[in-house]
Amino acid sequence: MVLDAPGRPLAPREAADPEPGPGEVLVEVKACGVCRTDLHVADGELPDAKLPIILGHEVVGRVIRSGAGATRFRAGDRVGIPWLGWSCGECEFCRSGRENLCARAQFTGYQRDGGYSDRALADERYALALPASYGDAEAAPLLCAGLIGYRAWKLVRDAPRIGLYGFGAAAHIVAQLARHAGQEVFAFTRPGDIEAQRFATELGARWAGASGEAPPRPLAAALLFAPVGGLVPEALGRLERGGTVVCAGIHMSDIPSFPYALLWGERTVRSVANLTRRDGEEFLALAPRVPVRAEVTRYPLSRADEALADLRQGRLRGAAVLVPGGE
Ligand SMILES: [Zn+2]
Ligand SMILES: [Zn+2]
Repeated sequence: MVLDAPGRPLAPREAADPEPGPGEVLVEVKACGVCRTDLHVADGELPDAKLPIILGHEVVGRVIRSGAGATRFRAGDRVGIPWLGWSCGECEFCRSGRENLCARAQFTGYQRDGGYSDRALADERYALALPASYGDAEAAPLLCAGLIGYRAWKLVRDAPRIGLYGFGAAAHIVAQLARHAGQEVFAFTRPGDIEAQRFATELGARWAGASGEAPPRPLAAALLFAPVGGLVPEALGRLERGGTVVCAGIHMSDIPSFPYALLWGERTVRSVANLTRRDGEEFLALAPRVPVRAEVTRYPLSRADEALADLRQGRLRGAAVLVPGGE
């Protein structure tokens, strides 16, 4: 399913299997998660997308064959292909464990073709081995919702009370990590989204309400997964002194101005960008121990546009996952 240009529906295309180049593996896609970032690429909200592009960066598949010099995996091995598809390995970020900030990095489903397909290529150094206890569809959301959620959550894992703004694929995984770590979780949804609030409570949230509401106690940290800039001052206003607001999305509407008093008291606003391979290894080791359960809604690959529309409208519980041959 190919995105030819922003704003257009995805187009089904037939193509010969791509040949894995040096260091690459060719993968038979078994499942691919649908992420809000895919919507941002499809809507043209992110610059520098390769076009046409195959979206999808939560790819679970089996290796078919390897290119020259690629020896890490064998045919039949299950691998995950995440958002970070390649980095330069030479810049100061790459050399200091911050390959997520590499200016030359290439991202899956953005600069490299991704997993809305039944075949995908990956640089094997950036592929991840997946815990055997997860089925293909259940493993897919771990690869971005889980991973980016984990990277954001790591920054606030010592906070006793955390707020999650936007209770979708990432937040439903973070809620489980937080509960496992003994944190109290407060979930904020779109006003009136009773279903998401109930879902959050089922996953152990102490409280769930609308994004404009006050939690019963001030938060020690807040993670923002909804792409709404107005939530930054909103969340800051709910924070205890010394608390942190983490913006975890790749795109957000403009942040309105706000009084300095909201930031005073050593409060912090920061973003989290992309992931490192180390994040992937840490999270995929932790997930089965929690154990993190990803709730998924399956769609046949040919109905990718419908999955994107459901994500856009907030009609999903948990994560949408495309399954090739699922029709
Ligand atoms: Zn680099
Ligand atoms: Zn993503």
